[in-house]
Amino acid sequence: MTNRTFTMIKPDATEKGYTGGILKMINDAGFRIVAMKMTQLSTEKAGQFYEVHKERPFYGELVSFMSRGPITAAILEKENAVEDFRKLIGATNPAQAEAGTIRKLYAASIGENAVHGSDSDENAAIEGDFFFSRLEQF
Ligand code: ATP
Ligand code: MG
Repeated sequence: MTNRTFTMIKPDATEKGYTGGILKMINDAGFRIVAMKMTQLSTEKAGQFYEVHKERPFYGELVSFMSRGPITAAILEKENAVEDFRKLIGATNPAQAEAGTIRKLYAASIGENAVHGSDSDENAAIEGDFFFSRLEQF
């Protein structure tokens, strides 16, 4: 079964010029890009996107980080997309991420960890629709 996940290349990775390298890893791992845009989140939009973490102590830091510069948002298609993409990005904390993962290669810290990956099919659909209209999802 083919399905979809949602990703963002976060502001830290954009600032460091890692966008192309990360997109190449995504392509090489067999994901097909079915929507993509470079944009910048307002603090309001970043807060909305990460609303599930509202009560966590790092929420304020997360919202200001995610809104401080451009991101690249994309919808990716592949069999078993959500799980396979979480494997490709590696653990939230890059110190614990496996060798060869995107976060191991490109993330600086648990907060500034280069990429986002959806954690379920349901959230992948919600997050994709947050950034892209139906006409922008191929
Ligand atoms: P993401 O949802 O961005 O793919 P994740 O699912 O691996 O990351 P979550 O637990 O959903 O991790 O946390 C969302 C984001 O919040 C993390 O990617 C990171 O940027 C930030 N974050 C998580 N834990 C911490 C922490 N202890 N300190 C600072 N920032 C954190
Ligand atoms: Mg998450």
